[in-house]
Amino acid sequence: MKQIETKSMVLLHHHLKALRLPTMGSQCEPVAARAAADNVDHLAYLLQLSELELLERERKAAERRLKAAKFPVLKTLDTFDFTARPSVNKVLISQLARCEFIDRRENILFVGNPGTGKSHLAIALAAAACSKGYRVRFSRVTELVTQLIEVRDEHALLAFKARLAKLDLLVLDEFGYVPASKLGAELLFDVISTAYERSSLMVTTNLPFDQWTEVLGSERLTGATLDRLTHRCQIIETKGESYRLRDAKARITKPSPSGGKKAGPDPVEPALEGGAGKV
Ligand code: ADP
Ligand code: MG
Repeated sequence: MKQIETKSMVLLHHHLKALRLPTMGSQCEPVAARAAADNVDHLAYLLQLSELELLERERKAAERRLKAAKFPVLKTLDTFDFTARPSVNKVLISQLARCEFIDRRENILFVGNPGTGKSHLAIALAAAACSKGYRVRFSRVTELVTQLIEVRDEHALLAFKARLAKLDLLVLDEFGYVPASKLGAELLFDVISTAYERSSLMVTTNLPFDQWTEVLGSERLTGATLDRLTHRCQIIETKGESYRLRDAKARITKPSPSGGKKAGPDPVEPALEGGAGKV
């Protein structure tokens, strides 16, 4: 009898592996033991087991999407201090975290000075989108432009654009730090106009719109880019001083536990938290 049970278990594990149900394989015995103890019937047992498989599958898929998004660092809304940034509406951000804007193919623009939390909010919202099943990609604008030029030179632009077209949300971080070349600006415009009304874009920038020509070069291209980006778009201004600077200043003015001596980095060059590739 014992031998048959062992043989059945081996077969069951084999079948579940062949059917690609690893969690059912690893959990069938402990869940069966619990089911027997709780007097759970066969169908309820199967339901519990299949739920575990599904949950694990969803967790792994979310993990893969998060990895594929290539965030430089992971940020969450829980760690964003909204009281420190009153210009940012917490209710609106929580609403955006539900990701309905992606279903509506709308864009989000974060505009504000360096260090005011634009990338933090963009990453947190984009990570929320990953966990909801959306395909996301995070890219600094300068890096994307360099990549576009490289793949174009390698005659692989179409394949690269086809990969971008599969995304639900493309985050373009730090628009405006470096002016693009004429070719770079055209390739960037191409990405933005291809995404227009097909997927969502999230852009962070420290540049007011009237200065976008400095990055894109031509008035015509700037007008066309802004036209696409801002049509069906939520603009979020992160007004005020840099969070890092504020943080550094607070550390300087706060007396140290070792007796009132001022400590901390130079407020002009504050220690960057996380070192997430800032300017
Ligand atoms: P920006 O993209 O506007 O230059 P970041 O989002 O990179 O600024 O913010 C700089 C640093 O300060 C990051 O480590 C970020 O997590 C942190 N930070 C900025 N604003 C806040 C905030 N309101 N609450 C918590 N951390 C913040
Ligand atoms: Mg940033």
